[in-house]
Amino acid sequence: MKTPHGTIHTPAFVPVATKGALRGLSFEEANKFGGEVFMINTFHFYVDGKYKLVKKFGGLHEFLNIDYPLMTDSGGFQVFSLGFGLEHGVGKISNMFPGENKPGKHPKDNPALKKKNLVKITEEGAEFKYYKNGKKLFLDAETSIKTQKQLGADIIFAFDECTSPLSDYEYTKHSVARTHRWAIRSLKEFNKTPKTDQALMGIIQGGEFKDLREGAAKYVSSLPFFGFGIGGPLGQSKRDMHKILDWTMPLLPENKPRHLLGIGDVDDIFNGVERGIDTFDCVNPTRLARHGTALTHGGRISLKSGRYVNSREPVDKRCQCRVCRGYSRAYISSLLREWEIYGVMLLVEHNLFYVLNLMEEIRRSIKDGRFLELKRRYLGK
Ligand SMILES: [Zn+2]
Repeated sequence: MKTPHGTIHTPAFVPVATKGALRGLSFEEANKFGGEVFMINTFHFYVDGKYKLVKKFGGLHEFLNIDYPLMTDSGGFQVFSLGFGLEHGVGKISNMFPGENKPGKHPKDNPALKKKNLVKITEEGAEFKYYKNGKKLFLDAETSIKTQKQLGADIIFAFDECTSPLSDYEYTKHSVARTHRWAIRSLKEFNKTPKTDQALMGIIQGGEFKDLREGAAKYVSSLPFFGFGIGGPLGQSKRDMHKILDWTMPLLPENKPRHLLGIGDVDDIFNGVERGIDTFDCVNPTRLARHGTALTHGGRISLKSGRYVNSREPVDKRCQCRVCRGYSRAYISSLLREWEIYGVMLLVEHNLFYVLNLMEEIRRSIKDGRFLELKRRYLGK
C-alpha cells in the first residue's frame, strides 16, 4: 500500500499509539522491527480540542516528529463503546466477544456493571458526555472528517456507528442504513476543498447478521472509497468473527485494501490473513505488556506472577528481540512486581517485536506458498 509517507508491506500489523505514543517504545524502535504504519485515535484529540494545536504544528507527522504512514480512526468507536460499554458491559470494558467473558464480568450476571448509556444517537450524529469532565460533546460525519483532515494522517476512516454485540436485528438494520448515509456524508466532506493527499476508507457494519453484512459490503464497496474497514461488533465469539469475514470478504474488491478494525491477536491475524485482510490494528500487544503479559510462541505468560521470579530463561526462547537476547524473565518479573516503568518498556518492546516479526514471517510464507503450514505451526491446527 503506497502512502505519501512511505510504502506499507501487507499483510501488516498497525500498532496503536492511542494518544500519540506507543506507551513505552519510540516510533523509531517500532519501525526498526517492521512497524511501517501506526494508528492514532481521533477521539482523544477531539474531546479536548487538541486537534487544533496539532493543526498549528502542521499535522500529526510534525507534532509527533515522525515520517511514517499514519492512520486515524473516526472517533466513533470510542464514542459508541463508551455508550454500549457502560450499558452492556462489552467493548473496552471487558471482552469484545461477550460469549467469551468470564462469569461475573458481564452485566447479565453482575448488575453492578450495568451503567447508564451516556451516548445519544440521532440521524445527525452522536451526542455524548465526556467522562473526564462531564462536558457534552457532539460528533458527526462532517466533524470527524474535518478533525481527521486537520490531524493529517495518510489513511483516515469514515464515521460509522459501531453497534453493541448485544444489539438486535431490528436495531442493527436501522443503524446500518444510517451508517450508509453517514458514509455518503463522510465522502462529501472529504471531497470538499482543500484537496489533501489523504485516503479515506469506508466501513462495513452489520453486526452478526448475514444479510446486513452482505448488504453493507455490497453498498459500501460501490462507493469511491480508497479501501474498506470491517467494523465491530464481530459476533459473540471468534468463531462468529470468522463467519462474518467469510460473508463479507468475497464481496469486497480485491484491488483495494481491507482493514480489520481493533482486532489483532495471533489467531485473529492468521484467520484474517487467510480470508484476505491486509491490515490489522490492535492495542493488545502494548496493553497486555502494561499488565505484565508477554506474547510467546508457547502462548501468553503473565510475568507478574510468582512463577518466574527465579527464571533465568528469556521471555521467549524463540524470539530474536533485544529483550529476549539480553534479559531474564526473573529481572523483568522483578521490575514489574515493583511497578518499575522499565519492566513495562521491555515487555512492550518484546510484544511489538513479536507481532511485527510474525507479520514478516507471514508475508514470507505467502510468497513461498507456505502460509497454511505456518498457521498450523503457530495455532497447532
Ligand atoms: Zn522477545
